[in-house]
Amino acid sequence: MNSSHPTVIVGAGFTGLFTALHLRHQHDLRSIILIDPQERFVFKPMLYELLTGELPEDTVCPTYQELLKGSDITFVQDKVEAIDLSQKRLTLASGLDYSYDHLVLTVGSVQGYLGTEGAQKNAFAFRSRENAIALERQLRECLQRASQTSDEAKRRSLLTFAIVGAGPTGVEMAATLADLLPYWYAKLSGNIHEIRVVLINHGKTILAGDVNAGLKEDALHAFTTRTVPVELILGVGVKSVAPDHLEYQPANSTEIKTLDAQTTIWTAGTAVNPLLQSLKSQIPADHLDKHGLPLVTPTLQLLDFPEVFAAGDCADVQGQQLPALAQVAYQQGASIAHNLIAFAEGKPLSPAHASLRGTLMKLGLGNGVANLFDKVQVTGKPGDLIRNATYLEMLPTPLHDFKATTEWLKEETFHRYHRPQLASETPAKRPLSPAEKRERSLVTALAILAPIAFLIAAYFGLRTPPSEQLKQPQPNSTTQSTP
Ligand SMILES: Cc1cc2nc3c(=O)[nH]c(=O)nc-3n(C[C@H](O)[C@H](O)[C@H](O)COP(=O)(O)OP(=O)(O)OC[C@H]3O[C@@H](n4cnc5c(N)ncnc54)[C@H](O)[C@@H]3O)c2cc1C
Repeated sequence: MNSSHPTVIVGAGFTGLFTALHLRHQHDLRSIILIDPQERFVFKPMLYELLTGELPEDTVCPTYQELLKGSDITFVQDKVEAIDLSQKRLTLASGLDYSYDHLVLTVGSVQGYLGTEGAQKNAFAFRSRENAIALERQLRECLQRASQTSDEAKRRSLLTFAIVGAGPTGVEMAATLADLLPYWYAKLSGNIHEIRVVLINHGKTILAGDVNAGLKEDALHAFTTRTVPVELILGVGVKSVAPDHLEYQPANSTEIKTLDAQTTIWTAGTAVNPLLQSLKSQIPADHLDKHGLPLVTPTLQLLDFPEVFAAGDCADVQGQQLPALAQVAYQQGASIAHNLIAFAEGKPLSPAHASLRGTLMKLGLGNGVANLFDKVQVTGKPGDLIRNATYLEMLPTPLHDFKATTEWLKEETFHRYHRPQLASETPAKRPLSPAEKRERSLVTALAILAPIAFLIAAYFGLRTPPSEQLKQPQPNSTTQSTP
């Protein structure tokens, strides 16, 4: 097929960036334009590490300039405002226009607020680098002001941190803050026992209906063993959020309760990206799912526009129920690259397959849980090490991988957080229990073996190269291809 226009990728998150990099790994030399309004890629699973300072900004949010160096991919820092699917044209916020032969739509989702009064204005979201920076500033300011006021009611409200939504982000955030805030407050000589971390949820259980549901007990256990315990308010609907309090209503009750908190972090619900909403007039209503996301074929093409691919959090694959996860998104990016090349060569396209490696959660500073292939569950410090090593291995380019791993090892070795000691904890050395001894041995073994294994694998190229991953899908004669 003769190509006169570039392949345009809109959104350089997990799906879009990995599509572009896989195209280059496959030696596809056609022109690629990658568009994103941000200067930096955000490795969202590790956004907590940016908030806590456990990893530097360049590791969690590397610039596209660094990631794409030498790739001959044109990066355009701009926002796509409109797409004309019939004319195969798109318009950017700057007024620039692009025509395309193939379009890849990977704009992800945006924070949803379920119509809750005041939530968008007064609560802190946690999805972007800017969100993490704003939240850190707020947390530090609240602690600072609390340490300087003698007004008890004011201090209580400054030291109460509400998190709305007990899905994975809410759970990880609550556990992390329950270690982080006392650590910061102790440095200001504040009384860490005055800190309250309150997790509020509509459902009666945490992690309900999520791929991490099996880790519920581990999360609940972590809540009770953090530096300060995480309090749970379950089975309630949050009615409104104001700058200094929120209101909620328990199920089956007319009573409205108030929680005085100067910080509310909102993690409940996602919404369709406005760019996709603007496409509604061009896509038949029955080709959208119940949330308004475009349906795509198993080969990840729009039903009415086979030259347009969409995946990740912004598309719904027909007949499949895939979780909104980075590990799904980046595998779909590989499949799109494979299919774009097949498309150009007139070959049959292949359905995308996303396999889940397991689930990983951060459950405090230096504490995590890794559920590997639904078979092995590792908790505590070893779980945290496995989570970090797995995510660092997923970072986009080998060079970046290496730098990030080095940073992490340096952090692990020299700068670990020390949880402030609670009055109830005895400073005297006590003998370790057999379980603690086992955990320590495992940590030591992992700390030694993980980097060695990583370096050997990286050196010999043993990690599944993109080309191998792309061979996995089997050609399907029923798939859609170019008319
Ligand atoms: C705090 C947090 C923790 C998470 N932890 C995990 C985890 O532990 N494991 C896991 O597997 N998943 C995790 N996820 C989910 C995972 O990050 C997402 O599923 C994944 O990022 C989806 O990839 P995507 O490519 O669809 O979208 P994204 O990665 O969100 O990328 C979308 C990109 O599109 C760009 N964009 C948006 N609008 C436009 C526009 N109009 N024009 C141009 N560009 C645009 C955005 O700037 C962004 O860069 C987490 C998510 C969050 C928020």
